[in-house]
Amino acid sequence: MQKDIDLRITPEQASDIEKVRRIFSSQSGIPLKDINSVRILRRSIDARQRNIFVNLRVRGYVNEVQDDPAFVSTYYPNVKGCPQAIVVGAGPAGLFAALRLIELGICPIIIERGKNVRDRKRDTALMNREHVVNPESNYCFGEGGAGAYSDGKLYTRSKKRGNVEKILNVFCQHGAELSILVDAHPHIGTDRLPGIIEKMRVQIILSGGEVHFETRMNKLIIENNTVKGIETDNGKTFLGQVILATGHSARDVYYMLHDQKIKIEAKGLAVGFRVEHSSHLIDQIQYHCKEGRGEFLPAAEYSFVVQAGGRGVYSFCMCPGGTIVPSASGPKQVVVNGMSPSNRGSRWSNSGVVVEVHPEDFPEYAKYDELSLLKFVEDLEELAWLHGGKTQVAPAQRLYDFVNGKKSESLPDTSYAPGVISSPMHEWMPRFVSSRLQEAFKKVGNSYKGYLTNEAILLGVESRTSSPVRILRDRETMQHIEIEGLYPCGEGAGYAGGIVSAAMDGERCAEALAEKINGSNKPT
Ligand code: FAD
Repeated sequence: MQKDIDLRITPEQASDIEKVRRIFSSQSGIPLKDINSVRILRRSIDARQRNIFVNLRVRGYVNEVQDDPAFVSTYYPNVKGCPQAIVVGAGPAGLFAALRLIELGICPIIIERGKNVRDRKRDTALMNREHVVNPESNYCFGEGGAGAYSDGKLYTRSKKRGNVEKILNVFCQHGAELSILVDAHPHIGTDRLPGIIEKMRVQIILSGGEVHFETRMNKLIIENNTVKGIETDNGKTFLGQVILATGHSARDVYYMLHDQKIKIEAKGLAVGFRVEHSSHLIDQIQYHCKEGRGEFLPAAEYSFVVQAGGRGVYSFCMCPGGTIVPSASGPKQVVVNGMSPSNRGSRWSNSGVVVEVHPEDFPEYAKYDELSLLKFVEDLEELAWLHGGKTQVAPAQRLYDFVNGKKSESLPDTSYAPGVISSPMHEWMPRFVSSRLQEAFKKVGNSYKGYLTNEAILLGVESRTSSPVRILRDRETMQHIEIEGLYPCGEGAGYAGGIVSAAMDGERCAEALAEKINGSNKPT
């Protein structure tokens, strides 16, 4: 027999599965000798009070061997010789689209401008050490997309847009820790993601799909408002319907669509800075004690949304025990983002803190029409590059100094490898953004005692929060509203934000495409 119960226990108890088994026995009244084993189904930390608890949903195997599968496997048939479709971009949206196409009997041909996930690492190292930005291979471009070198947070607010469980199970099938199926806030970590991404690629190739690295789509081939295929920078042509999953950093793709007169529209996004504290301080604040996380708790997370000047200001992509990384994808850009290893063990915790902006907030950019916020963000990143000294050095300011409108005379240590330079960011960041950030930091400082400190550092700029452009598509067919056979997909098209939501959108585009080819989206 299997029995599921909820337990509320201390972090120390929760860290030892034998202790969990004993508590399970005492709380369920089932004799310990009858409980063969226990399995944790759900885990969340309740740190709202001084006494911290771990809430567990636990399954006990009573006089029964634990042999139910740890995750649900997906079957990938061989699709060599089946109808083919082109997937542009091997980020989470593209990879999950390709895997879903295979499930549905369609052969995916992936076109990726960047390198495979291992070779990509050399280019990110060069960026950190020598400030060289390779416009085809960086933290945004290459196998695994923007999510490959990240914290690998796998929670999403857009649960209605797809099957989150399925996405997590596919990650497990390709080597992710089973804990991602259990934790309320699952994450994988930048040390483990590349191996998982590689296994996904191997699966795609073993199933008959193709993956072309260092191949950039330059043009969509369109006849009579129907996509026939694509042309690439190395002179190749690939024919088929196209899932366009190029992410929001591929600005050349937006310009290409604009030049090809394919309908797009300007979309709001959020911009700001990345703030970094010592992880010990964040642990102290969140776990309400001087000792911080102690032996049994993970590096503490935080998240907030406050209103400032009539706009939402929120924390974005928080990385506990992580590092800040240079996320530029072209020349004259300084952009910051964050990543963490699986153990979240660094001595810093960072987070984006960003203000929502809409196209109408910056009338001076109205002349660019659908590209207005794209131009705004490009200018902002160039401003950061100029203030950083035209390398990957990031302009920076102590948090309290920023709030008080004062240039910092010195800067605290930071995890950002290319280095930082003191800059009066309150002066050059658009007033619309900086005034709201100043107000928001004061509010956050009131709720999180100790957060608003000059020991924290702000780095500029955080600008790749979501796409500044939407590529318009039909809700039902998922095809572009005017171009048949073109499936705008994932974050770059404006339909996802984050790894899991991009993956789910990839699956949905694949299903719509399969339905068009097969007349049904059920496996053939
Ligand atoms: P992308 O991941 O951007 O992938 C697009 C792909 O298309 C890229 O590989 C690119 O090289 C390729 N491409 C672009 N143009 C072309 C072209 N013309 N031809 C061929 N290929 C092309 N999200 C989370 O949920 N959790 C996190 O912890 C997290 N951390 C992050 C950390 C960092 C440093 C960064 C940069 C992002 C992070 N994100 C995180 C955001 C997340 O990575 C994105 O939301 C997600 O990757 C979007 O998926 P996508 O497939 O739509 O696009």
